[in-house]
Amino acid sequence: MFETTVAGSLPKPAWLAEPEKLWAPWRLEGDDLERGKKDASLVWIKEQEAAGIDVVSGGEQFRVHFVHGFLEQIDGIDWQKKTKMGIRDNRYVVDVPTVTGPLSRKGPVHGDEVAFLRDHTDHKLKFTLPGPMTICDTIADEHYGRRADMAMAFAELLNAEAKELEAKGADLIQFDEPAFNVFMDDVKEWGVDALQKAREGLACTTAVHICYGYGIQANLDWKETLGSEWRQYEEIFPALNASNIDQVSLECANSKVPLSLLGLLKDKDLMVGAIDVASLEIETPEKVAQTIRDAMQFVSAEQIKPCTNCGLAPLPRDVAAGKLRALGAGAELARQQL
Ligand code: ZN
Repeated sequence: MFETTVAGSLPKPAWLAEPEKLWAPWRLEGDDLERGKKDASLVWIKEQEAAGIDVVSGGEQFRVHFVHGFLEQIDGIDWQKKTKMGIRDNRYVVDVPTVTGPLSRKGPVHGDEVAFLRDHTDHKLKFTLPGPMTICDTIADEHYGRRADMAMAFAELLNAEAKELEAKGADLIQFDEPAFNVFMDDVKEWGVDALQKAREGLACTTAVHICYGYGIQANLDWKETLGSEWRQYEEIFPALNASNIDQVSLECANSKVPLSLLGLLKDKDLMVGAIDVASLEIETPEKVAQTIRDAMQFVSAEQIKPCTNCGLAPLPRDVAAGKLRALGAGAELARQQL
């Protein structure tokens, strides 16, 4: 009951990358960097286990960016050809690489990482991949012409990758789709189809993570424009409930999402975000338990997997560790209260 997990990223130690900065460059290089990524993953596996987190991850210590970490191993992308693009509906303007030819994997991307993590924990292991729609919103296209077509091409590559990660010991593969909260019509038209293609044929548990982003200024400003009730989930949950994805990770802590919307996912398990990633304040176990109880008004206790709203990467390391412990303790409290 109340199996806990973390949405995705965790902070990099200061010796590995500049702290409290999203997408910070590495501070090591060569063999030292490769060793450093592994050591940092071990730190977070230990922290998660000690905090009572049931389904652990490596905290994305092996990559700088949650999308580009995968794209770097894909042929058909020109990294020199940077295009200035407003992504997530112009929430951020960034230089993105450009798809200039048919997409294919150069080879396995994250397999060695999963094998390493598998060797170092007996807990269930989770690994995150970017979802096809979010990839398409983080790269320019000069080859496919239609976003939906490019998404299907990425979905095929993700599917091949996910099957390898499952074979290396991943128990749960999560696709990150923050773009689902932005392009709701596209989600219904082709986003869920692409996601299902990425998931096809997997025997492990699968999840999709749909959040309102890291606690960085651009996201806080965007949230200000969303009004007093955030109803984006309402448009996409019916399609997700009908999909082959097992779990949906969503934002509930300190959020303006009406929790009644959880009721639209009656056939899914829900990773209920009970930790706010936009605040430095560490939740009390009671507060976490309260968020779980609030969710239980709309879904059954069996469906609930307490989680964080989003990744914790930009937070100070000690704050992130404290929030992990609050999540573990809060879930335990909710179990006892039940
Ligand atoms: Zn997120």
